[in-house]
Amino acid sequence: MDFDLTDDQATIRKAVAELAGKFDDQYWMARDQAHEFPTEFYDALAGGGWLGITTPQEYGGHGFGITEASILIEEVARSGGGMNAASAIHLSIFGMHPVIVHGSEELKRRTLPRIVTGDLHVCFGVTEPGAGLDTTRITTFARREGEHYVVNGRKVWISKAMESEKVLLLTRTTKIEDVAKKTDGMTLFLTDLDRTKIDIRPIPKMGRNAVTSNELFIDDLHIPVEDRVGDEGQGFRYILDGLNPERMLVAAEALGLGRVALDRAVRYGNEREVFGRPIGMNQGLQFPLADSLARLDAAELVLRKATWLYDQGQPCAREANSAKYLCADAGFQAADRALQTHGGMGYSEEYHVARYFREARLLKIAPLSQEMVLNYLGSHVLGLPRSY
Ligand SMILES: Cc1cc2nc3c(=O)[nH]c(=O)nc-3n(C[C@H](O)[C@H](O)[C@H](O)COP(=O)(O)OP(=O)(O)OC[C@H]3O[C@@H](n4cnc5c(N)ncnc54)[C@H](O)[C@@H]3O)c2cc1C
Repeated sequence: MDFDLTDDQATIRKAVAELAGKFDDQYWMARDQAHEFPTEFYDALAGGGWLGITTPQEYGGHGFGITEASILIEEVARSGGGMNAASAIHLSIFGMHPVIVHGSEELKRRTLPRIVTGDLHVCFGVTEPGAGLDTTRITTFARREGEHYVVNGRKVWISKAMESEKVLLLTRTTKIEDVAKKTDGMTLFLTDLDRTKIDIRPIPKMGRNAVTSNELFIDDLHIPVEDRVGDEGQGFRYILDGLNPERMLVAAEALGLGRVALDRAVRYGNEREVFGRPIGMNQGLQFPLADSLARLDAAELVLRKATWLYDQGQPCAREANSAKYLCADAGFQAADRALQTHGGMGYSEEYHVARYFREARLLKIAPLSQEMVLNYLGSHVLGLPRSY
């Protein structure tokens, strides 16, 4: 058993930490409060070539595995950028996986190199108000008419749609009533977010406000056949392919947020004096922080195993789900404890832990709720009856 990072992995961790570290807490607070996309940060990451970390070399990327991508995104979150930073680049780093595996050569050549350079912003359009976590219930419908499809429907929570030129869009091309299996009949497109046919409305939300999440109202959107990813009717399967690595990246984001929150708590615990001694001397504060350190370390080990299995081409769903669950839980708990350590100042924006707290909370809900992770482990791993 070898727990060391490879030379490449260690270099990635150091380089990304240095680059992301140039954007301090004040930068992120300002972007968050102004609801402003972190363009300077995004450009810096793109300029360093980091957006193409997993993209194959023939499309301008580096062709690294999910282990390297998870290290990158963990450091981005850990820099204090949290979910504002991670969400600005998340989809570029791994979200194009279905296109890489199933897309036509022409679609890949047209889009992937531009995503790697940062020139092309993309978002991911799956969730719908009427379907929720039951993705097979989506109703956004793409009707084939000659060499294009005409799409109508509604999506919700689509992050970065305001800033994006294209959307990876999941639709139905056969209604659920007419398919043998409910996972059949869905088709994926990577296509323009044509503002003349799609009304994009940001949703006011609790945090991570530098990156919008939006409702999309799609009205007779025309999509050329060339923008279809792979075969008609196979879209759900293509998305499933990317779910385990997606869970690992989200886990890494939660881990980074938990680590930065813990760092801030320790700093404040050492500096702040009440009753004539540093508050961190009190075990009522010190033990929860030490407990969070242990939980983050344990969660990280599960994450490392999950990414290693994936990169070895081995089954990893159990570990990917456990890593997402444990990292989201430990990350949020660390953020909550960091807030408590700061007392009243934790509730102010000045010390940034309130921002970490709001962002860490998100990772227990999206992109996959903790309950759905437990559903997976309960039914697929333990063999208990399925509730969904
Ligand atoms: C900030 C933010 C950004 C997002 N970005 C994107 C994006 O870019 N693209 C995109 O497509 N989506 C995005 N989402 C959507 C996100 O993936 C969903 O919100 C998430 O998957 C949960 O789905 P839901 O909100 O529809 O919850 P629902 O399906 O309505 O579920 C509500 C609650 O019921 C629980 N529940 C439901 N069924 C069961 C069951 N059988 N057993 C136990 N519990 C159950 C769920 O766990 C959840 O807690 C985003 C969401 C947020 C909040």
